[in-house]
Amino acid sequence: MAILDQLTSQEAIDLENKYGAHNYHPLPVVLSKGEGVYVWDVEGKKYYDFLSAYSAVNQGHCHPKIVNAMHEQASTLALTSRAFHNDMLGKYEKFACEFFGFDKLLPMNTGAEAVETALKICRKWAYEVKGIDENEAEIVVCENNFHGRTTTIISFSNDSVARKNFGPYTAGFIKIEYDNLEALENTLKSNPNVAGFLVEPIQGEAGVYVPAPDYLAKAKALCEKYNVLFIADEVQTGIARTGRLLATCGNCSCEDKNCSKEPEVKPDVLILGKALSGGAYPVSAVLADDAVMNVIRPGNHGSTFGGNPVAAAVAMAALEVVRDEKLAENAFKLGELFRSELNKFIETSTIVNLVRGKGLLNAIVINDREDSETAWNICLALRDNGLLAKPTHGNIIRFAPPLVMTEEQLMDCVSIIVKTLKQFEK
Ligand SMILES: *Cc1c(COP(=O)(O)O)cnc(C)c1O
Repeated sequence: MAILDQLTSQEAIDLENKYGAHNYHPLPVVLSKGEGVYVWDVEGKKYYDFLSAYSAVNQGHCHPKIVNAMHEQASTLALTSRAFHNDMLGKYEKFACEFFGFDKLLPMNTGAEAVETALKICRKWAYEVKGIDENEAEIVVCENNFHGRTTTIISFSNDSVARKNFGPYTAGFIKIEYDNLEALENTLKSNPNVAGFLVEPIQGEAGVYVPAPDYLAKAKALCEKYNVLFIADEVQTGIARTGRLLATCGNCSCEDKNCSKEPEVKPDVLILGKALSGGAYPVSAVLADDAVMNVIRPGNHGSTFGGNPVAAAVAMAALEVVRDEKLAENAFKLGELFRSELNKFIETSTIVNLVRGKGLLNAIVINDREDSETAWNICLALRDNGLLAKPTHGNIIRFAPPLVMTEEQLMDCVSIIVKTLKQFEK
């Protein structure tokens, strides 16, 4: 078969099963086109995308401004490596540093690479600035974290499926309960070798766990007290997803300050990925001020593709879309509406216990055993009704549509979700 022949869904799935490693269990739907909040399968059926590629497509599928920037740059100069300078990287670094309020940016490609980079920066800072003895640094992480899939990152995961038989694991991590300030303070107090605290502002993969409103600000204050770097993994929560530019807010550029009822927290190290490119291209970054970032010197770290001209052009366009189309404000407004509409349904529902989240990063908790198939079956029924979502960790379904959604589209989605859930009432 020629590679350009149009496959049926089943043919496409069969090919992946035969020739692809089985490292995922996708919902059975084969997509071939996307535009804004919509995707189409190979048979031409249209769906609302309610996952947004795990919040990479915040700006909507195939945003014309991002696609144009990518196309133009790809046909001008695509890759130089960092052996030479290129005329896009510095422009992008200045743009992003001013956008988020940091002195410097280190460009990478995937989220996991950016997390790895942040861990390396933190360790180097520990030895060269804080003065911890070599090889003694510890980094505090949270239970049920998700930070990616490299050997070091899975070393401090508690997902047994992601960990088992991938050892030996990287040492130097201490795990504490999420959203527990006492556990954090006890650990920092009793261990002078702690260099950093790596945390997700909302635990996305774990099931959209939103910590107490003052958790991040107080955790940051504890880090300051004990001279420990506060490292925010905003790969999923960043770039307007939770109704603010960043879930920690940072140098928030939204005009509507009502969106920011919680204190702003400036991380010492900020990790971005996913929507930094609007889903068009793998682009990730670590941002920090000079006092931290200057520990990195030539030869210490790098990536052939990190900071390439296409990535730079795409990321600038993607951030401009977030600002110009006021996506943080839209996510804030639609998120409030989404939770209040679902809460009306939940009042009388036996199948859903709870909706939680912030902005347009939300989840519903299904009233069934954790190991039941109900959430998966609900996602299949949602698919049949024209909306794509995926269970996360057992009986939880994450809802994260592109942030370019209109109120009318959101209400249409709410009615699809409610209609579908009603089919599962006991
Ligand atoms: C997705 C994600 C990552 C990993 O990003 P990849 O691009 O898949 O490597 C890291 N941290 C968080 C919080 C994420 O959601």
